[in-house]
Amino acid sequence: MFNEIEKRANVVKDGKNNFTNIKNLIKFKRYLNYMYLKILGTGTSQVSKERVSTSNYIEVGNKKILLDCGCGTLVRMSQADISFKDIDIVFISHFHIDHISDLFALLWALKYPHLGRNKDLQLIGPKGFEEFYNKDIKPIVFSKPFKLFNIKIQEIENEMKIDDFKVNVINTAHTDESIAFKFIENEKILVIGGDMGYDENIIDFSKDVDVLILECSYDNSKELNNHLTPKNCGNIAKSANVKKLIITHFYPIPTEIRLEETKEVFENTIMAEDLMDITL
Ligand SMILES: [Zn+2]
Ligand SMILES: [Zn+2]
Repeated sequence: MFNEIEKRANVVKDGKNNFTNIKNLIKFKRYLNYMYLKILGTGTSQVSKERVSTSNYIEVGNKKILLDCGCGTLVRMSQADISFKDIDIVFISHFHIDHISDLFALLWALKYPHLGRNKDLQLIGPKGFEEFYNKDIKPIVFSKPFKLFNIKIQEIENEMKIDDFKVNVINTAHTDESIAFKFIENEKILVIGGDMGYDENIIDFSKDVDVLILECSYDNSKELNNHLTPKNCGNIAKSANVKKLIITHFYPIPTEIRLEETKEVFENTIMAEDLMDITL
């Protein structure tokens, strides 16, 4: 399908419209309603200038979505020309700081009336998210309620339907609340694993998907039960028969070894970089 889009884009390129750069090509793909993902942050709590903490921007249906919102998300969004004012939904995979710290910054930035935002903002997280929001986020960010728009807090347990797409979740072996997400729109399926240790449930959950994004915190020399190694990632992708695996969430040890080690098990693997575009 990607090739078909590419072909059609080239037809347009040779015709009246002029695709001068990759940005235009991406806009064209988005226009054709394909699921679009921009990887914003591929790092962890150990932030580097190449890799800020975890965050992904997704356009599904008519919704502009953030999945996790770690330190550096807002800066990466501005670098990618993605307006923080337009976000419809923020999904949160778990409550670790490298996945939520810029949620405070986003809400703080949004609360000024001169932005003129009037659509509601949905914040969706795992079990316990409502309590976490009310206890730990709200008192810090808001002394008064929003006047221009509402914030809607939801907890997702198994499945949620939003417009014409579906979101499924399962628990992951990382924290009590941590979850992995699956976005399904038409025939396109994207799984974003969040943080996790090795657990066979993710294999069933990711069966035959187009793109699977897995954390790959360490190389094969360091096995932990709450994070994945390249070998784990490769085995999950292979057993699940996914079309493409993207590894992310790297602690700043040399990263290249992890791509080599993953490819030893699953060849069609890409190493995520901050600001990388994926369409599916
Ligand atoms: Zn993390
Ligand atoms: Zn974590």
